[in-house]
Amino acid sequence: MKKIPYVTLEQAAEIKKTYPTPFHLYDEKGIRANARAVKEAFAWNKGFREYFAVKATPNPYIMDIFRDYDFGFDCSSKTELLLADAVGASGEHIMFSSNETPAEEYALAAKLGAIINLDDFTHIEFLENILGEFPETMCCRFNPGGFFTLSNGIMDNPGDSKYGMTKEQLAEAYRILRDKGVKHFGMHAFLASNTVTNEYYPRLAGQLFTLAADIKKELGIHFSFINLSGGVGIPYTPDAEPNDIYAIGRGVKEEFDRILVPAGMGDVAIYTEMGRFMLAPYGALITTAIHEKHIYKEYIGVDACAANLMRPAMYGAYHHITVLGKENEECDHRYDIVGSLCENNDKFAINRMLPRIDKGDILFIHDTGAHGFSMGYNYNGRLRSAELLLQEDGSVKLIRRAETERDYFATFDCTPYYDRIRFDG
Ligand SMILES: *Cc1c(COP(=O)(O)O)cnc(C)c1O
Repeated sequence: MKKIPYVTLEQAAEIKKTYPTPFHLYDEKGIRANARAVKEAFAWNKGFREYFAVKATPNPYIMDIFRDYDFGFDCSSKTELLLADAVGASGEHIMFSSNETPAEEYALAAKLGAIINLDDFTHIEFLENILGEFPETMCCRFNPGGFFTLSNGIMDNPGDSKYGMTKEQLAEAYRILRDKGVKHFGMHAFLASNTVTNEYYPRLAGQLFTLAADIKKELGIHFSFINLSGGVGIPYTPDAEPNDIYAIGRGVKEEFDRILVPAGMGDVAIYTEMGRFMLAPYGALITTAIHEKHIYKEYIGVDACAANLMRPAMYGAYHHITVLGKENEECDHRYDIVGSLCENNDKFAINRMLPRIDKGDILFIHDTGAHGFSMGYNYNGRLRSAELLLQEDGSVKLIRRAETERDYFATFDCTPYYDRIRFDG
């Protein structure tokens, strides 16, 4: 599918006058339309709830948009819990799916009334020592081991991932929790990432539903929800077919009707914890070409770097790039689009065919709305960019200012150096 930016060159140039590049720009209209679609696709399930994976884009203004759809938040650290709390979420609107969890974070999750998802069998005792007694509802994370394959060749390797419990541990965990007075249970699994197919959730649901029905039969416990977690992908490349969330919802319903309803479990709520699918396409990194370099290859140097978007450097991930104002020009130049880090993997694109790029051109790097800004870091003393929200009425709201050098210096005591730091250049 052709990738079309949600701002024109004129708009971007106007925004740039107030907020210098680079910045991440989110599209509120797209976010809302997609959130509505997700809700509709699962409307057949009475208790359905999406718990937005906060780590994907931890910004309270974005999270607030999701509150309008009664979404909850999937948190895995203290800071993420604080964010969920800050936007007014509490109780069953927070899912705490963490691993290698510090004791104080479990304590905070319990204080907020969050649903706690245990990543490991040993955490039963760990949590009991912290809380004294268990909340009424508890969730356990399952890892089936082995490989998880889908018909289009997507494969992931749960057997090599650090998350969740084995099947035997899982059943034993539910038994122990039942005997310790827990009343309601959830099951959670995350088996494959960025699945660009409508098959993933239904397949995962089928596995979890069958297992839950077996465990219910064996232990007589009540499952109040099954959490399909994240992993629903988006087409980063223009040739990939986007997922159809309605088809995904129907696929999960078929498994629900086939497995859970006959098992007397028709009251089970379906939960999801999507991050990427909720936001990736509705965010972009806007950056300006500031240098061109001709050596053994052609390089375009931009004012953003991997500190603003790590996925290409970290995973070799593809992010589509549109040169604003040149949407209809021929892609007859081969470029590496690079940032300034002193690391040779700081490349947003390698051997990419694009229109001729001139210094000053504004580049729209697509699909950075999830796992984009949030993976930012300060290598080379580079600073995190601003986050802007393109609101439905076309106006732009600053939802996080850019870091400044003062922020960078703020975590050590600069008193001995204060007179000498030239913050203002
Ligand atoms: C990362 C994560 C998610 C979100 O994953 P996406 O691929 O962004 O949908 C959901 N749940 C848990 C526990 C995660 O770690």
